[in-house]
Amino acid sequence: MNIKVAKFGGSSLADAEHFIKVANIIKADPARRYVVPSAPGKRTSADTKVTDMLYACYEAAVRGDDISDLFAKIVDRYNGIIRDLGMDLDMSHEYERIKASMIHNAGRDYAASRGEYLNGIILAKYLGYDFIDAAKVVFFDEYSRFDGERTNQIMAHELKKHERAVIPGFYGIMPNGTVKTFSRGGSDITGSIVARACMADLYENWTDVSGFLMADPRIVDAPKPIQTITYRELRELSYMGATVLHEDAIFPVRVAGIPINIRNTNAPEDAGTMIVSSTDVYDTERVITGIAGKQGFSVISLEKDMMNSERGFIRRALEVLEKYNIPVEHMPTGIDTMNLLIPTMAIGDNREALINNLCRVLEPDTISMEDDVALIAIVGRSMIKAKGTAARIFSAIANAGVNIRMIDQGSSELNIIIGVEAKDFPHAMDAIYREFVK
Ligand code: ASP
Repeated sequence: MNIKVAKFGGSSLADAEHFIKVANIIKADPARRYVVPSAPGKRTSADTKVTDMLYACYEAAVRGDDISDLFAKIVDRYNGIIRDLGMDLDMSHEYERIKASMIHNAGRDYAASRGEYLNGIILAKYLGYDFIDAAKVVFFDEYSRFDGERTNQIMAHELKKHERAVIPGFYGIMPNGTVKTFSRGGSDITGSIVARACMADLYENWTDVSGFLMADPRIVDAPKPIQTITYRELRELSYMGATVLHEDAIFPVRVAGIPINIRNTNAPEDAGTMIVSSTDVYDTERVITGIAGKQGFSVISLEKDMMNSERGFIRRALEVLEKYNIPVEHMPTGIDTMNLLIPTMAIGDNREALINNLCRVLEPDTISMEDDVALIAIVGRSMIKAKGTAARIFSAIANAGVNIRMIDQGSSELNIIIGVEAKDFPHAMDAIYREFVK
């Protein structure tokens, strides 16, 4: 029988109603043998995630404040779920132990991890699945780095003993026995680790959207969902700000060649987005897989006669930026011109010093710096198969009356990145989207 690992995010487990949806999803497919829950998320936009309540509780305990009221609210969330599900489950000993540990300063990560831990116990009981504490199967080394190989070995061994199990997300254990969490949103990583360890056929990541959309719905009206995306395309789009999945969640399943399926707990009939390592499916009609954008860039433009033949020019320019700890996002060059695209935030108070230094080291004929530049990445594996993609992008932008500040085509032909003025950003995104998606 094939195996699926199903990870459910906090919004999918925010209350009893969602627990019921989750149980129906799991019961609908016997292949869903291993389940990874997050902690209960927000029930309404004004609500607080349990993880945030736990952090607040920890901070109060460190200050020496009485945590009773804060902690009681957390207990209420879980007891509310248990009650509304009609379960016969008394968790008071768990609550007491956690509260006592918090008061005795068991650590920030320990506090935060209890959200997943408690949710895991409830979900396991509700489903009739075994419960495997992540502290027994997810390991960090003494430098707090995730120990992938050790985890894989021990987790694989443990999973074999359980036909069906719930493994809470987000945390593991250090060699000295302290609980350690991944960074925020880290249950995605646990799901991926579990999928790798049981050599799952599929890692399902259930959330509150039906997969990735081709563009940001706050900018483009009703963008279409992405059916299939490769890991590399996803990396390009998430770097530019499209986030649904924790970045580090990709690695464990990617090495094992396991696809990820982003699904919607509130619309399980939707196919969602499939993330795969490679695919033969090219959409030569639509060409692009997605568009993403990022604001807040500055561009330094340099001109110098014979720049082209001057040895070490680029190196010296980069050395100056390095000195001020400024990363370079893009560096399109002409024969005697060069643009340096940098995040405005990174310039800080060094604006004048930076320009002076570049002038001294490079002796350009002209130098200028402009802020408020936005980048738009047009990403698509099918670009390599389609002719005239760049021309279509540029005419769409020109027709929208937008001036292009910069163009950069990735060497893999997977993406084209353009820079526009911030004020034109939404307009340009929309124009490109409409050009490719009719
Ligand atoms: N509960 C944790 C957080 O809020 C981890 C997760 O949801 O994946 O970041």
